Amino acid sequence: MSREVILEADNLVKYYPIRAGVLRRTIGQVKALDGVSFKLYKGETLGIVGESGCGKSTLGRMLMRLEEPTAGTLTFDGVDVYTQKGAAMRRLRRDIQIVFQDPYTSLNPRKTVGDIVGEPFEIHRDVVPKGGRRRRVQELLDLVGLNPEHINRYPHQFSGGQRQRIGIARGLALNPKVIICDEPVSALDVSVQAQVVNLLEKLQSEFGLAYVFIAHDLSVVRHISDRVGVMYLGTMVELGDEEQIYSRPTHPYTQALLSAVPVPDPTLRGRREQIVLAGDVPSPANPPSGCRFHTRCWKAQQKCVTDVPLLINRPDGRGAHDSACHFAEARVVV
Ligand code: SF4
Repeated sequence: MSREVILEADNLVKYYPIRAGVLRRTIGQVKALDGVSFKLYKGETLGIVGESGCGKSTLGRMLMRLEEPTAGTLTFDGVDVYTQKGAAMRRLRRDIQIVFQDPYTSLNPRKTVGDIVGEPFEIHRDVVPKGGRRRRVQELLDLVGLNPEHINRYPHQFSGGQRQRIGIARGLALNPKVIICDEPVSALDVSVQAQVVNLLEKLQSEFGLAYVFIAHDLSVVRHISDRVGVMYLGTMVELGDEEQIYSRPTHPYTQALLSAVPVPDPTLRGRREQIVLAGDVPSPANPPSGCRFHTRCWKAQQKCVTDVPLLINRPDGRGAHDSACHFAEARVVV
């Protein structure tokens, strides 16, 4: 894995206005993303985990520039993404592609697989000459393990796993450098999930792709990720190598999430001390002061109510990695 940065988010913020009344006056803001920063290195997989509503899907859309930020910057290969316009932005869109969560709804049922996978060539006409597009689509189908002769079939004629392969083939069509995988396997059966994850890994080593892999399933993220970021209520609370996050988490929220992951080994299961979080995730329209996790954290103290903990390098027992907790301390979760 290279240490060359391909994508960098710096203090990304996304607020949605809450409007009410006849005049639709803004009465508040939903703070979906509130100052998220990270680097994505060439050829690596950065996993992003967190409960639903933590802002990870908003982050995915922001990385694709499907939404404009309230504040913050995004840099791709040294280019400021949010200031690009017209042809320059179209050129950038080739390099960052997305694979969506639900293969059942993300493919147009009235279009053939050939049309779906070849759709990007209609927008980016110079990538493949018109006469060569069918051939290229068949190559892409072959690449993702589908029969190239099924190019004229419709999405309903494929299984869930095969449909996700169609989505991946479409994502690969423009030879991107980064793919945002937004919960790409969560709608699939467990046995099929492994096949799709293995395919993503194979394509990564073949083409040197970098992935941002967004998911709520910590086991899947562990399997595929080189580094992992944990999100809570619109902020990144812990960020480190896969081994650091899973073996020596220092943030109480990460520790609680990991303690809830099912353990297949019955002897280890008996030793597992599950951390049960009190209450629900607070509303992003009115996040708690200080550390946003303090209303549910069993380690919370007065400082946590008033002071925002920064995401900085903190000792983890064997080294250090980024954690946003005043009282960060490594805890081995069996
Ligand atoms: Fe818990 Fe305080 Fe750490 Fe936040 S800063 S995670 S409330 S101990």
